[in-house]
Amino acid sequence: MAFRRRSKRIPARTPGELDAMQAAGEIVGKALQEVRAAAASGVSTLELDAVAEQTIRDAGAYPTDAGAYPTFKGYEGFPGSICASVNDVIVHGIPDQETVLAEGDLVSIDCGATLDGWVGDSAWSFAVGKLDPDVEALNKATEWVLMEGMQAMVPGNLLTDVSHALEQATRRAEEKFGVELFIVDGYGGHGIGRTMHEDPYLANEGRPGRGPLIQEGSVLAIEPMLTLGTEDSAVLEDDWTVVTLDGSFAAHWEHTVAATADGPRILTRRY
Ligand code: MG
Ligand code: MG
Repeated sequence: MAFRRRSKRIPARTPGELDAMQAAGEIVGKALQEVRAAAASGVSTLELDAVAEQTIRDAGAYPTDAGAYPTFKGYEGFPGSICASVNDVIVHGIPDQETVLAEGDLVSIDCGATLDGWVGDSAWSFAVGKLDPDVEALNKATEWVLMEGMQAMVPGNLLTDVSHALEQATRRAEEKFGVELFIVDGYGGHGIGRTMHEDPYLANEGRPGRGPLIQEGSVLAIEPMLTLGTEDSAVLEDDWTVVTLDGSFAAHWEHTVAATADGPRILTRRY
């Protein structure tokens, strides 16, 4: 008779809880779309922040009247409702008046919303005007890596099966999009539910077959961060802004994803 130590599991949410998380997630999706629509040459990232906050607060007022709020605002002292990370900024850029968008910028917007006590977290990167072809390839590749990697978010897999799928997808993306890609070291996805950042931490690369079990109803925020030149980053003096060490461009795509019997379910869809 063989005994197997019961492995840790990523908490399972009920179908009703997943619906509640999706309601929060869809508000994030709406905010991301409004921000993208407002982004243009000459617009500051602080203006984009205002668009996101207004969208979230308006969305929460109807139909539930529960009141959605921007999860990021005040989170560990973060001042914005979005992270706005332009060009060589990977993540955690603070929206400000001085950062004014220009033609050729790659803008990464990360946003969270809390509704009825559940959190959605999602990010995307987009162009202002026309991107340099390599940067365009980087951005398309990062989106593709997210969509490919999340296919491993199914019941029965272990946590690092998703990490491995993201890494494998990154290597395939290099061929598919004809560009060398670097996976940012030390940053990754996370569990999510009633708070934004929950255990476990999800690396964007690594060996498969390790970590807690993904169950039906387990939820992870999956968020590849790729660059054109380096896996190394630095945090600026504001203690937030994460930049590539070599100044190369970075892209960031994220969805909050549930593992279900029918496959991965994106809770932060953009319609
Ligand atoms: Mg995020
Ligand atoms: Mg996240």
